[in-house]
Amino acid sequence: MPDTAATDTTSVARKPLPADLQAWLEAHTQQLDTAQELAGAVLPQLAAAGLFRIGVPEALGGSGGDVRDAIDAIAAVAEQSLTSAFVFWGHRTFIEYVLQSSNDALKARWLQPLLAGEHAGATGLSNAMKFLSGIESLQITAAQAGDGWQLDGGLAWITNLRKEGFVAAAAVNMPNGAPPAVMAFAGDAPGVTRSPDLDLMALRGSNTAAVWLNAVPAGAADVIALDARKFLPAVRPAFLGMQCGMSIGLARASLRSALALCAKTRNTLTDRVLELQTALDDAVARLLEGVHDGRFQSAAAPMFRLRITLAEIVQAAVMLELQASGGRAYLRDHGLDFARRWRESAFIPIVTPSLTQLQIELQKQSAAGPASATE
Ligand SMILES: Cc1cc2nc3c(=O)[nH]c(=O)nc-3n(C[C@H](O)[C@H](O)[C@H](O)COP(=O)(O)OP(=O)(O)OC[C@H]3O[C@@H](n4cnc5c(N)ncnc54)[C@H](O)[C@@H]3O)c2cc1C
Repeated sequence: MPDTAATDTTSVARKPLPADLQAWLEAHTQQLDTAQELAGAVLPQLAAAGLFRIGVPEALGGSGGDVRDAIDAIAAVAEQSLTSAFVFWGHRTFIEYVLQSSNDALKARWLQPLLAGEHAGATGLSNAMKFLSGIESLQITAAQAGDGWQLDGGLAWITNLRKEGFVAAAAVNMPNGAPPAVMAFAGDAPGVTRSPDLDLMALRGSNTAAVWLNAVPAGAADVIALDARKFLPAVRPAFLGMQCGMSIGLARASLRSALALCAKTRNTLTDRVLELQTALDDAVARLLEGVHDGRFQSAAAPMFRLRITLAEIVQAAVMLELQASGGRAYLRDHGLDFARRWRESAFIPIVTPSLTQLQIELQKQSAAGPASATE
C-alpha cells in the first residue's frame, strides 16, 4: 500500500544518525553483541534520537516521511550494531501493526508509549509467517471467556521482551471456526511468563527470550486484526522492507571496511568490492521503489527475491572484508569489528522469513504458475 504521506517516488536521501546515538552505538557495539548488560538501554537510546517516529504520520505523533525513511534509519543503525537494529526493527514493526490496525482502542492505548519508547513492542510473528506457508501450526490458542478470550500457548523466540515492560504481537487460533487473529498481550498481564534471556552466540543485548501464556485474558482492545490471513500479507512489505534494512546496513559497513583495507593492501580486491557496492545500491533502489509504489502488496515474489539477494550480498561483503584483511582478521588486537560482523551476518539468513522458507515459497509459487496470486 503506498504511503500517503509521501509523494516522491524516486528515492530517499540517506540521513546520518544523531551524533549522540552514533557515539553511543560506536562505544558499545561490541558489548551489545556479546553481553546482556546493556539490553535495557537500547530502546531508550533509540527513542531519545526520535527514531521510532520516523515514517509515522505527524498527525499521529510521528515525524512524517514513509516506510522508506524507517528502512533507511534501521540500515543506519545496523551499520553500527545489528543488535540495536534488530531491536529497532521489532519495535518499529510492532508500531506498524498498530498503525495498520483498524482498532482505535489499541491505537489509543499503545501508540504514544511506543513512539516515545516508554514501552517495548515485540513481534512474535515468525510462527504466523510459517503458519501462512503451511510449515507450522499456530502456537497460541484463544478460548471464549465471557465477552473476550483467554490465551494459552507460547513463543520460542521473541526479541525486545524488555524486562522493564513489553507488549507483544502473536497470531492466535480463534474459537468457533473464526479465522486466526493477530493479538497483542502485555508482559505484565496475568498468566504471561518471560524466560530468562536466551543464551545466544551474538545479539545478546537484544532482550531475546521465550514467552508462555497461561489463561491470559484478552479483549476487543487487544485485537490487532481479526483475520491474520488478510492482515499479514498487507503489512508484509513494511515488515520485510524494514527487515532488509538490517542487511543493507551490515553490508554497507563491511564493504566500507573492505574498501579501506583494500586502499592499504590488497588492491586486487577493489574491483570486486566496488561491483558488490553497485549491486547493493541497485537492490536498495529496487526495494525502496517497490515498498513505496505498492507493487509488493500484490506481488510478493520480487520482494522475496530482493530479501534473498540482500542476504547474499551481506555474506559476500563479509567475506570480502575478511579477504581484504587477511590473517589480521584473526588478531584480536587489530579490532573486533570484523568478528562481530561475521557473527551478526549469521543472523541474516535465519531471521523469519528465513532464506529456506523464502526459497520453498518461491518454488511453490513457480509450480503454481504465473496465475499465482503473489507473482
Ligand atoms: C536471535 C534471534 C531472535 C529472534 N527473534 C524473533 C522475534 O522477535 N520474533 C519471532 O517471531 N521470531 C524470532 N526469531 C525466530 C526466527 O525469526 C526464525 O523463526 C527462526 O530462527 C527460523 O526458524 P527455523 O529455526 O525453523 O529455521 P528455518 O530456516 O525456517 O528452517 C530450518 C529447516 O527447516 C526446514 N524447513 C523450513 N521450511 C520448510 C518448509 N516449508 N517445508 C519443509 N521444510 C522446511 C528446512 O530443512 C530448514 O533447513 C529469532 C531468532 C533468533 C536466532
